[in-house]
Amino acid sequence: MYIERLSLRSFRNYETAELEFSPLTNVIYGDNAQGKTNILEAVYLFSQGRSHRAKTDRELIRFGDEFARLSLDFRDAERGYSCSMQIAKNGRKSVSINHVHIMKLSKLMNYLNVVMFSPEDLSLVKGSPSVRRRFIDSSVSQLYPSYLAALIDYNKALMQKNSLLKALRAKGSRTDLMLSVWNEQLARSGSKIMEARQRFTDFIGEASAAVQSEISDETLSIKYRPGIRTDDSSPEAVFAYLSERESREIDMAASMYGVQRDDLDICINGREARMFGSQGQQRTAALSMKIAQAEYIKSIKGEHPVLLLDDIMSELDINRRMYLSERIRDKQVLITSTDTDLIDKDTDTRLFRIENGTVIK
Ligand code: ATP
Ligand code: MG
Repeated sequence: MYIERLSLRSFRNYETAELEFSPLTNVIYGDNAQGKTNILEAVYLFSQGRSHRAKTDRELIRFGDEFARLSLDFRDAERGYSCSMQIAKNGRKSVSINHVHIMKLSKLMNYLNVVMFSPEDLSLVKGSPSVRRRFIDSSVSQLYPSYLAALIDYNKALMQKNSLLKALRAKGSRTDLMLSVWNEQLARSGSKIMEARQRFTDFIGEASAAVQSEISDETLSIKYRPGIRTDDSSPEAVFAYLSERESREIDMAASMYGVQRDDLDICINGREARMFGSQGQQRTAALSMKIAQAEYIKSIKGEHPVLLLDDIMSELDINRRMYLSERIRDKQVLITSTDTDLIDKDTDTRLFRIENGTVIK
């Protein structure tokens, strides 16, 4: 799939802007703090329904303005789509695709798939388990709405269970019939989540190991480490696991077991990458995981996602840069950089110079 056009109005530091993209490489360049990442952020919004970096939607509206308005045209193999989005100061967003209003923003990711590469990807390897869970969740929910539904169900039940456990502690009591009701719900949706996470990890484990070995002579291994240690991830087995541990959870007044404790074990040459990897090895592992994520989307959807590369070329050495350039050659990619020399260009490459919220072609 590829994006044809983006237009912005009162978005971040843009008063108005129009960008028509090449279906292949697009380079968005300029000095620091001119608005390069803002462009990628706008595209990302149309896929994930939220920014990759803003804490609140308000931040997205140009200082002093009331609304931000964005529109994006893109195509997949079958047809073209026109999306528009309005963000109001109270944080309300309204979105339409081909003039049909979208009620749930999470629906967006079923239309437009993107993979963002940024220097912060390093936290996939170095950061807390929640970063890795988010990586899995955003990849899988882009393709399987039922996965997102299971996550939502799970989190609702988890909140209920946590408040029940706290209430039990406050009362000094150790029994409540509702506890097994919540455990049953957690087991039902948890089992779906575990199976999907296992399948996803198997795919990206293999794909990222292949990338890592092509870039370096290192062995990368990524394994799913479930917060529920059962060989059998059926709802019955998960329920039994949770039931056996009820009394410990009552002692702790918190949910101690479940997919909220899942993680990925990432090893380079057999050792835990987070602890023993060099910065360069960790960076390569993160890059391999992102390339694998794009391959995963391609394998399920049959189309390449749009790649958004935010300032990562300057972080890579020449070998890694060449490797990445080769991998992205036949796909649509939007690359930001302060230095266009770092990017492979050919006749189809489109360049956009950004200066203080203005696009200069
Ligand atoms: P770098 O090379 O440092 O990454 P960049 O070109 O990617 O820079 P962006 O992050 O895209 O920069 O844009 C940052 C600019 O946008 C800053 O000048 C910032 O003040 C401005 N900006 C951010 N939010 C708003 C807003 N809501 N209204 C107006 N300007 C904003
Ligand atoms: Mg930037």
